[in-house]
Amino acid sequence: MTLDFFNDLLNVDARKDQQKEVIKDDNKNINTTQQLRLFDIAKFEEELFINSSKSNQEQQQYSTSINAYDLMGCIRAALFKYFKIPVESFANKWLPVLMRSSIGRAIHSFIQDNTKQFTETEVYVKVPSLHFSGRVDAIINNNVLVEIKSCTYSDYKTIINSKRPRVKDFYQTIIYKYFLENYCDEIQEYCKSHKLKYGNAPKLNNYNFSNIQYIYIAHDIVSADSSSLSEALNTVKEIKKHLNSRHNKFFFITSLAINSQNDVVKDALLHVIDRIKEFNSFIESNKIPPLDHKYVNKKDCYFCIYNKVCKDY
Ligand code: SF4
Repeated sequence: MTLDFFNDLLNVDARKDQQKEVIKDDNKNINTTQQLRLFDIAKFEEELFINSSKSNQEQQQYSTSINAYDLMGCIRAALFKYFKIPVESFANKWLPVLMRSSIGRAIHSFIQDNTKQFTETEVYVKVPSLHFSGRVDAIINNNVLVEIKSCTYSDYKTIINSKRPRVKDFYQTIIYKYFLENYCDEIQEYCKSHKLKYGNAPKLNNYNFSNIQYIYIAHDIVSADSSSLSEALNTVKEIKKHLNSRHNKFFFITSLAINSQNDVVKDALLHVIDRIKEFNSFIESNKIPPLDHKYVNKKDCYFCIYNKVCKDY
């Protein structure tokens, strides 16, 4: 009976599809007599492709600097971005990443809007002399730098088992630490002389981050790193069990703090300083680094938007 009921419904929909429907709408600019049209996921994919292409292109056009992920990625890609090298399409190669970034923004707001524990949030880190810009999620006093990260359940599982941040998140915070501790005057100066659209100027004149804290929130189960929905659901089930979720309603949030006196942090700082130096030396010489440069990362080629133009340089 249930099946018949749904078949009837589908037939009615199919018949309706052929008919003209009158849509009641007060807006006089809309043609109110239209064919019934249902939301089409394939069409949505095309729309997403166009939107992602447009917004990435706009970002590239107006940007005068690179961010922490660019700095830690392939140096050629960072310089292609900086020099605004045109490409065939700016669209993201894996479109679900856009949904992830919307979820990520919502999660940031959820944490930031519901706590008074942070003394600063969304701290703007713009260093014009080194062509860098970024935003720190939160700061506590002058000594704790906080990054809020949303992640997949499979990354979350690795994080809670290893008790370590993801490598790219770790380097991102090291870069922010370096700039806020060493270029605070320049950042303040920039913030004073520009109207900031997003983010806030640093409140203090100097920082000495003895700790870096990462807040991880697991959000989606359907991601490129799970080969099926059942695999993703199993990961969630395992994590819930592991974190004793019956008593821990916030099993999907964890936090890690690392001490900056740690040798790993000191080595990472030297590495970051070297990358900043290399990147800026190529800007000064107005050149693209050769393919065998130590910071060319060929593992990124598949998803790189410059992979068609790269061979021409
Ligand atoms: S295609 Fe590969 S080598 Fe070229 S810029 Fe992109 S990541 Fe770097």
